[in-house]
Amino acid sequence: MTYDYDLFVIGAGSGGVRAARIAAQSGAKVAVAEEFRTGGTCVIRGCVPKKFMVYASEYKTHFKEAEGFGFSFPKQPTYDHTRFIASLAAEVDRLSGIYRRNLNNAGVDVIDDRAVFEDAHTLRLVNSDKTVTAEKILIAVGGEPFIPSDTIEGCEHAITSNEIFDIEDLPRSITIGGGGYIAVEFAHIFAGLGVETSLVYRGDLILRGFDDDIREAVRSGLLESGVRVITHANYTKINETPEGPCKFHVELDNGHAINADVVMLALGRIPYTANLGCDKVGIKLDKRGAVVVDEWSKTNVDSVWAVGDVTDRVALTPVAIREGHCFADTEFGGKPHHFDHDKIASAIFTQPPVGTVGMSEHDARAKYGDVDIYKARFKPMKSALSGDPNRVLMKLIVRQSDQVVLGCHIVGPDAPEIIQAVGIAVKMNATKQDFDNTCALHPSLAEELVTMRDKWVPPEL
Ligand code: NDP
Repeated sequence: MTYDYDLFVIGAGSGGVRAARIAAQSGAKVAVAEEFRTGGTCVIRGCVPKKFMVYASEYKTHFKEAEGFGFSFPKQPTYDHTRFIASLAAEVDRLSGIYRRNLNNAGVDVIDDRAVFEDAHTLRLVNSDKTVTAEKILIAVGGEPFIPSDTIEGCEHAITSNEIFDIEDLPRSITIGGGGYIAVEFAHIFAGLGVETSLVYRGDLILRGFDDDIREAVRSGLLESGVRVITHANYTKINETPEGPCKFHVELDNGHAINADVVMLALGRIPYTANLGCDKVGIKLDKRGAVVVDEWSKTNVDSVWAVGDVTDRVALTPVAIREGHCFADTEFGGKPHHFDHDKIASAIFTQPPVGTVGMSEHDARAKYGDVDIYKARFKPMKSALSGDPNRVLMKLIVRQSDQVVLGCHIVGPDAPEIIQAVGIAVKMNATKQDFDNTCALHPSLAEELVTMRDKWVPPEL
């Protein structure tokens, strides 16, 4: 049987683009279909524009801190959100164009359409109403924001991270629902830009799943930045109030209410498999709608693979890229290998940011019982003059039996940059002795990682 393509990729995001390019460079005939814009969530409405917003929101603090170093600003600096958003959009356009050019240069056919399954080798292009066939199909459609329209009345008034980058006029106030990555990052962004910001979280402490010390440190950072953190609460109803002081009046299930100009939901993301036709082909999905795959990213259907957020493994751009690369190398490059999802470093771009790799103290204790904890909390040198009130947190989780460092958690300036390098050591199963044998670099924040000598003893022991 001959097919139109050796590989058809659904979705031109991080994972899909990498897989398409590597497969094409290995000699395969490849097409990729994208219904929105080349680049996917990360480039168009995720990591990249978010990081630019983080940069923008930090300047106010930088200006304030500069005064401690002798600077003065005879005229108060002003911020023009509309101008910033226009620059941001231009940069996103440029990057999206690069992704597209890279695909074209690799010989990949880029199809601007939505592709859905007809059978295990056939896809229908929805807008052009054509069909294409491929020997192998890769699902790389990513995720979409979860919107609980059954529990929050008036959900249609809320925006998500999909729309947040399009707001041209800076609101006076925003309320953000959720306590995960997106909620805490945007709470800092808007607070930093001078917007009255509240965060509404259903639990006790934000960032569930992270090390408890990180969670506490981020909570303090949010409060320090002026974010109103409301816990044990959920939105129940969003009312439009055109005559009111703010555009919306949001009712909470704790009996209180919040007024805000923008209501944002950051309640998690779900795999974007609705109406993809997986049922027609018998592709197995889990209860969240994620495509179930094995370590080779292969589904239960012989001709279909899936990578990235749609598989709900680890929803991070570099992970999707690695999964896509492994798939293409294995299936088209004659170099079979698969990605190891253990000990992936990640960051939360709060202010100060978080860098983390490996196990939390809680998980390490649950799995190994005896662990040694090394912790340092200190004021960074710069803060002596800048006046930054935040303390740095550095924490190592060490398995007692063999002294392997199971986890490293940092909250402080440059934590994401530091953790990328520490991640190499942790991935290599470095021991506490290896850390100790490494000479400090002075003066730096990171030197604390190799100078922590005393085990932390819980106060109750
Ligand atoms: P997360 O899964 O991180 O957090 C979702 C939050 O919403 C949690 O606090 C959760 O509470 C809460 N929640 C979920 N369902 C409900 C509900 N029905 N009612 C009330 N609250 C609810 O999702 P995000 O949207 O923040 O981020 C999505 C993914 O994007 C992340 O998992 C991450 O992989 C990726 N991402 C990574 C970033 C980075 O690397 N810096 C930045 C942004 C996103 P609870 O904890 O109680 O379950």
